[in-house]
Amino acid sequence: MTLAAAAFVALACVAIIALSCWREWSSRQLELKNAETDMANLARSLTQHAEDTFELTDTVLNVLVNQFELEGTGPAAVAKVQAFLARRRAVNRIHGVFVYDETGRWLATSEPVTFTNLNNSDREYFQHHRASAERGTYIGRPVKSRSGGQWIITASRRFNHPDGSFAGVALTTIDVGYFLQFYHGFDIGPNGSIALATADGTILARSPDDGSYTGRDLSGAPLFRNLRERPAEGAYYFRSPLDDVQRLSFYKLSNRYPVIVVATQSEDDVLAPWRRAALSRMAVVVALIGALGSAGLLLVRQLRRGQKMAAAISAKEADFRLLAEHSGDMVTRISLEGRIRYVSPSSSRLLGWAPNQLLDTPALAGVNANDLPQVEQTVSFLRTGQAEEARIIYRNRHREKGEIWLETALRVTRNPKSGEIDGVVAISRDMTEHKDLEDKLAVLASSDGLTGLANRRHFDEQLESEWERAKREGTPLSLLLLDVDHFKKFNDQYGHQAGDGCLRSVARVLSEQARRPADVAARYGGEEFALLLPNTDAAGCAQVGERIRQAIRDLGILHALNPPSRLITLSLGGATHLPASDKLHCASLIEAADKALYAAKECGRDRLVMSGQVIAWPTSIRA
Ligand code: GH3
Ligand code: MG
Ligand code: MG
Repeated sequence: MTLAAAAFVALACVAIIALSCWREWSSRQLELKNAETDMANLARSLTQHAEDTFELTDTVLNVLVNQFELEGTGPAAVAKVQAFLARRRAVNRIHGVFVYDETGRWLATSEPVTFTNLNNSDREYFQHHRASAERGTYIGRPVKSRSGGQWIITASRRFNHPDGSFAGVALTTIDVGYFLQFYHGFDIGPNGSIALATADGTILARSPDDGSYTGRDLSGAPLFRNLRERPAEGAYYFRSPLDDVQRLSFYKLSNRYPVIVVATQSEDDVLAPWRRAALSRMAVVVALIGALGSAGLLLVRQLRRGQKMAAAISAKEADFRLLAEHSGDMVTRISLEGRIRYVSPSSSRLLGWAPNQLLDTPALAGVNANDLPQVEQTVSFLRTGQAEEARIIYRNRHREKGEIWLETALRVTRNPKSGEIDGVVAISRDMTEHKDLEDKLAVLASSDGLTGLANRRHFDEQLESEWERAKREGTPLSLLLLDVDHFKKFNDQYGHQAGDGCLRSVARVLSEQARRPADVAARYGGEEFALLLPNTDAAGCAQVGERIRQAIRDLGILHALNPPSRLITLSLGGATHLPASDKLHCASLIEAADKALYAAKECGRDRLVMSGQVIAWPTSIRA
């Protein structure tokens, strides 16, 4: 995915670059093509111009050649021509007109010079005509004018004696400056050039001119080396041997005269506007690529981070799932509506239902009706954000086992983005065995091992709480203390085992007679018992006491050493307090009952004495 995104961005960048390069290349080629066309047009029209110029000289030469061939080079004929030439008004193109005899001596000229002793037989054009029978116009190398000193181009023809032998040369000259001036009028850029050359590579005129070009021999340059094999015109790219500038040019070879025109422009000049525009276009493209590249980089980085995060999350999720699914505890996720969104496989063991059977069912469906209000309240505290976590113990239905005890730790879950509570996670464990044990321990801790009645500690707690309650509610609280008569003797007589059995029987009677749920029968110590009677007045207390005393007698357990009944009997001391009106501590109730018990013993045993009761002191018994 990341790789694909990176590849896409890279491809887009490459495509943009390739497209722009291609576009720039095409516009560069177009620029060169346009320049080529311009140069072609220029070369063609300048060739035409050169041809016209040479044609003009041809006309003059024709006239002269005809004249001398018809009339010979006698003084009369020469004087006629000289008169004609001297009258001729110099035209722009043709600078001068000259005629030489077969020895090179000047015969006539349009120039206002004295020429009787001048001889031009050393000139290259003269020697050419003398050697060659050709009668066409010969365009020679440019020469420095003998008359004016400037560079001139010579166009000459030979004329013959009537027998066909060499009779002399008629010559016209064209000022190189004329061409230069003409060429100067064309805009060919700062490094462009226009050159007129002979077909064998001698420069006749070149614009711009620094004075060194005219007459230069370029026959060794590539264009001239194989000019004969080339077409008559064409585009030509080269590095100029004259100024070492890379040029594009168009040459045109005249088909009437052995001259060639080469119009050139420097490639740099042609391409400069394109280069500037291309540079700014490329800058835009580069900026675009940069933006695209950085956006792509950012995207790729983001993707990679996302992938890493997703991998981390899924690893974490796998860990948590492993924990949840392999834990002995049951993990449940509960929605805000109270439905099960997820439950771990432990549900099968804990509740007897497989996870898929529980999904989307109400989470509290199996809670014991008695525990439900407390559980509901806890869950609602969590849901409303009043608590973050809670721990509850409650009874829950098991599919097969009936009811079990569950201990559940609850914690709210929050939406990671908004932080709002979006549910509750519950981790439950079966507490049934623990709870049973706990219950057993609680019973053990609060009961007496021999009789099963409440033990002294539990009795003390109950006394204290019942005292407080009576105080609050303004009800009377009664207490009976009971002591087996002459029990030491019973033990001595019948053995300790029998003594224990007797105590158990007494305890049974006590629990039977303590009929109200709030009554607490306890073994107070040794063979002493206590019966706490909440919300019972003195009369009620006396009534219960008397009933117990009678019930013990009715057991009919023999006790030979307990006269006069010789049965097991109890002495009872009863006391009733109204704690609301009493500033005393609950110990005062015990004290009062104890005193009454003592009195009952003193008064002869097997009787009940209520605290505050006026009794006759039985002196006989005491004695
Ligand atoms: P009185 O009528 O004055 O109460 O005489 P008594 O012998 O009962 O006097 P006392 O309270 O001094 O004696 C209590 C005796 O009870 C002492 C002990 O032998 C016996 N006893 C106390 N606890 C147990 C018990 O758990 N089992 C048995 N078998 N005997 C006990
Ligand atoms: Mg005793
Ligand atoms: Mg006793």
